[in-house]
Amino acid sequence: MIVLIATHNRHKLEEIRQIFALPSLRLVAADEVPGLPEDVVEDADTFEGNALKKARELCAASGLWTLADDSGLEVEALGNAPGVHSARYAGEPHNDAANNAKLLRNLADATNRRARFRCAIALCAPDGREWTVEGRCEGTIISEARGANGFGYDPLFVPDGFEKTFAELDSATKNAISHRGRALRAAAQAWRDWLTPKS
Ligand code: IMP
Repeated sequence: MIVLIATHNRHKLEEIRQIFALPSLRLVAADEVPGLPEDVVEDADTFEGNALKKARELCAASGLWTLADDSGLEVEALGNAPGVHSARYAGEPHNDAANNAKLLRNLADATNRRARFRCAIALCAPDGREWTVEGRCEGTIISEARGANGFGYDPLFVPDGFEKTFAELDSATKNAISHRGRALRAAAQAWRDWLTPKS
């Protein structure tokens, strides 16, 4: 069975391929399927809403079972910003370094540096059925970037129970505790029956 993964982000795709491994499932990336819309406008005000929107649109365009995620960082001292605006926090075009610099500026005087990553995953079937799950990872924002792995806000985020940032941890350790890892494992468990072809 083929499942389309509605992302152009190589890091996410790799993480999804590592975790979402079910027997007889072939995961194909959006850029492996011709004729799909380049970008889906992510204008919902929740992670779940954006994940569902991406999955629905690409499922309709491809006729394939489609899995999409939407994720971001919520920072308590900023009223849970950047939230669904995480990718373009510092404006267009998407720029991780500018986003991180803006986050540090906005937190300069903050004593509360608690934050969490959240990830919603949606699965849409060509017959119209759809499901969502969510994963979270709690932690703190440090005041200077550290580490070279990963992407996005990884160099500023230290998950609870660790001294290292996400960008200093190896990908297996990050996957074991990350919002996306947790959401994907919950998804694989919850959706196993729908994604295993009946013999
Ligand atoms: P989206 O899910 O592609 O809309 O991504 C939202 C944005 O949230 C990304 O561009 C990153 O800035 C941030 N983000 C989501 N997940 C992670 C992560 O695992 N590490 C670092 N940043 C992340």
